[in-house]
Amino acid sequence: MIESTVILQEIEDALKNDEFIFYYQPKVSMITGEIVGAEALIRWQKQNGKIVPPSDFIPLAESSGFISEITKAMFQKLIVDMNIFNDIEGDFTVSINASSKDFDDSTFIDHIQLAIQAKQVDPNSIEVELTESSLFGEGGIAYANFSTLVEMGISLVMDDFGTGFSSIDTLSKLPFSTVKLDQGVVSRMEHSEKNQTIVESSIRMGYQLGLNIVAEGIESEEVYLTLQNLGCTIAQGYWISPPLPLFDFLDLVRQKKRWPSTAVGLLYMAQLDHIHWRKSVIDGVFSIKNRKGGGFGFRGRPASDSKSCMLGKWYYGAGREYSDISAYIELEKPHKQLHDLGNTLIFAVESGSTKEELVEMMRDLSKLSGVIIKLLQDIENEIL
Ligand code: C2E
Ligand code: CA
Ligand code: CA
Repeated sequence: MIESTVILQEIEDALKNDEFIFYYQPKVSMITGEIVGAEALIRWQKQNGKIVPPSDFIPLAESSGFISEITKAMFQKLIVDMNIFNDIEGDFTVSINASSKDFDDSTFIDHIQLAIQAKQVDPNSIEVELTESSLFGEGGIAYANFSTLVEMGISLVMDDFGTGFSSIDTLSKLPFSTVKLDQGVVSRMEHSEKNQTIVESSIRMGYQLGLNIVAEGIESEEVYLTLQNLGCTIAQGYWISPPLPLFDFLDLVRQKKRWPSTAVGLLYMAQLDHIHWRKSVIDGVFSIKNRKGGGFGFRGRPASDSKSCMLGKWYYGAGREYSDISAYIELEKPHKQLHDLGNTLIFAVESGSTKEELVEMMRDLSKLSGVIIKLLQDIENEIL
């Protein structure tokens, strides 16, 4: 075992001597193929030019509590770097990694708030990545501070998703906007079907919760394309680029390089969403008819109009990319009809229509549903 030779005094001196910098690793949109953000990763650049990775000093900084000093100082650096990023066209988001110790009191939060008030930084372009282990110890000040961050307009990312024991539970407790699939889970996907299923279900769950899904640790084109087909939307990893010093990163952005782009993964999600919607209408009908409890139960009614259901969100959002495909254009009408019919059906069952009437409507619902699935598949074939 290689013993870490770094002692706390050296870390404190390094901070005093301004030896910590950020490297930036690009994040690429799998829908557009463009760089849409970066993760800021700390590096210790020694005076002799040697670069020390975070694994050599962050654990000690965290266990000693000195991490809070580092985080505050690095936030100032981020502000300086972000002003240079301002030249980048379009939306661009930078994420930083934080430790739960940073939120044990309000000093870091106050620090961020001051910077936002002084308009030094736009909170909408910052994300904070938190790991399960850094969230240990539910409740208390840290949890309240995470919510304050979100109120300030900063987004929370659950890092290393798929490791730890209670990630899913934590997702429901904090207002995350993004989950980041752990690089271990992503890399094991290539060698095991089980891992691929875990990744697939994680993406599906994140999507249904309305979260963005980032995959990290992508080291090959094959993994990139597989994740893209499964509906993952943002990619990070050595196959795209390793973390780079600021100016190398800016050079990369200026090259306007493109990675493979397609919304086919989201199309697949749209198909599943449609099946899910149809099922929730039918479940509700059965439940009301058989008086098996509260109709649509705690999940509520299925979306009543064709713009607010998940398929509709795709159609009028990312799906627009396919607006020149005839199946896409044809889809709008039956989809609207389907929702009208769904609403009629729900009204009918609630007002006590006969079984025959309901069966007739459910048959029509299935027919329309079949038309929609076929059109979605036509779009898919057209793209492929
Ligand atoms: P992390 O947040 O999980 O960051 C991702 C790590 O994976 C980074 O290592 C990155 O360089 C590496 N990586 C990126 N793409 C690939 C890939 O395709 N394959 C493989 N095998 N690895 C890839 P790095 O920069 O050494 O950072 C390690 C950890 O140190 C980070 O893990 C994070 O937990 C922590 N860290 C980094 N910067 C900071 C910081 O500013 N503050 C705090 N508190 N922690 C930090
Ligand atoms: Ca991270
Ligand atoms: Ca990670």
